[in-house]
Amino acid sequence: MPLSILINGSRGRMGHALAAAAQEMGVTIGGAVDVGDDIAAGLAHSDVVVDFSSHQATRAVLELAVASNKAVVLGTTGHSADEKKRLLALAAKVPCVWAGNFSVGVNLLFALTRRAASILGSDYDAEVVEMHHRFKKDAPSGTAARLLEIILEERKLTAAALRHGREGIVGERTATEVGIHALRGGDVVGDHTVMFAALGERIELTHKASDRGIFARGALRAAQWVVQQKPGVYDMQDVLGLK
Ligand code: NAD
Repeated sequence: MPLSILINGSRGRMGHALAAAAQEMGVTIGGAVDVGDDIAAGLAHSDVVVDFSSHQATRAVLELAVASNKAVVLGTTGHSADEKKRLLALAAKVPCVWAGNFSVGVNLLFALTRRAASILGSDYDAEVVEMHHRFKKDAPSGTAARLLEIILEERKLTAAALRHGREGIVGERTATEVGIHALRGGDVVGDHTVMFAALGERIELTHKASDRGIFARGALRAAQWVVQQKPGVYDMQDVLGLK
């Protein structure tokens, strides 16, 4: 039996990309819902809920998945750290892949960033720059948030170290801060650069997405994988065997 998915957020940019990728990959669409539609009805014909909608929808999506014992692939971003913590407990009751970025290249960028942050140490100032299309609603992006989490983990820092842009007389940069800068404009699908700058040299790791298909194909790969897993929250590094 081919895998059958329910797309939540079906009328959005990712909803369309998922429908195209499903056709390409032989995945059946058991339901496609958006604002105002009855998600429960579409669920009956699906093995996995694939959600790329709004962070305000996540609780309801997870509650429904838990009640009907369905796996979830969660791509929506924009949750606050507190919100995410509360939702993770709910998500863990079913097999769930939750990732701020489903592209294979970006997941390699995560692994390279961890390695660079651990080798280079705090003498190398870490800054993250991201750019997305003018329609994006949240900032910084979920991918940038994950890159920052990795740097903070490796440097044993807390979120208090983050500097969201700089303005005015902010003084010299301290060794313990990590900068994050969100650019918005045009139709940019998603660019991320992690910079490590020391006195005398600078390393930049950059990923540029030019087609949303990479996220959609990654999300469907995650859907095919997650239906065979035990309940728990996984990420794309688990799906790709990068851990
Ligand atoms: P979009 O605005 O084009 O589409 C979102 C769709 O969700 C819209 O059709 C909207 O009507 C619908 N929606 C909003 N609230 C809803 C609700 N409560 N219930 C059902 N549908 C609802 O946005 P997009 O570019 O498709 O991105 C959607 C989300 O996916 C964003 O959070 C974005 O950051 C994220 N995203 C994640 C990845 C990844 O790899 N994890 C990649 C791209 C986008």
